[in-house]
Amino acid sequence: MPTKTANRKSDFFLVEHFRHPDHVSVMEPYPILHYPDPRLRLKTRTVERVDDEIRQIFDRMLLTMHEAPGIGLAAPQVDIQKALIVIDISEKKDQPLFLANPKITAKSGHKTFEEGCLSVPGIYAEVERAENITVTALDYDNNPIEITTDGLLAICIQHEIDHLKGKLFVDYLSRIKQQRIRKKMLKMEKITQTA
Ligand SMILES: [Zn+2]
Repeated sequence: MPTKTANRKSDFFLVEHFRHPDHVSVMEPYPILHYPDPRLRLKTRTVERVDDEIRQIFDRMLLTMHEAPGIGLAAPQVDIQKALIVIDISEKKDQPLFLANPKITAKSGHKTFEEGCLSVPGIYAEVERAENITVTALDYDNNPIEITTDGLLAICIQHEIDHLKGKLFVDYLSRIKQQRIRKKMLKMEKITQTA
């Protein structure tokens, strides 16, 4: 999901990860796939464990998301078919949440929220989701965790988990709206390609 207010574009490629202050690596953001790219529909595989290889993907996903800028990113959006999501809804962008194999184990209530998506730039629409959720996952250090939450974080987790199943927030809208968005996206893509 995109950051709603910001429209910031910085070009830092030198990233100092907060967990490894002594380790400085040159990293570039992943290109983000845009709707209606069929690769966004590919289903993901769960990971066996969160090892260094997965952590590297997590780090690069976080960079990609912060650069966009956004508050949530799922691996299929960067053409990686693994069950990985990165979320950071904090204002200072310093509280990342890394979830591998996230699974919603309980949900209740209803909440309608105007959502957006880094893969559907410029489009916002109201989607109804569960208000409270409990989710299990593996964290950055391969520890099993369970989170019970509501509000924006609950919305964001549900949005990103949908991506892992090849589902997009536009799928919740009427056919007419979906067609309109599809046309707009294809037109935009053409303009960027010829620019
Ligand atoms: Zn999205």
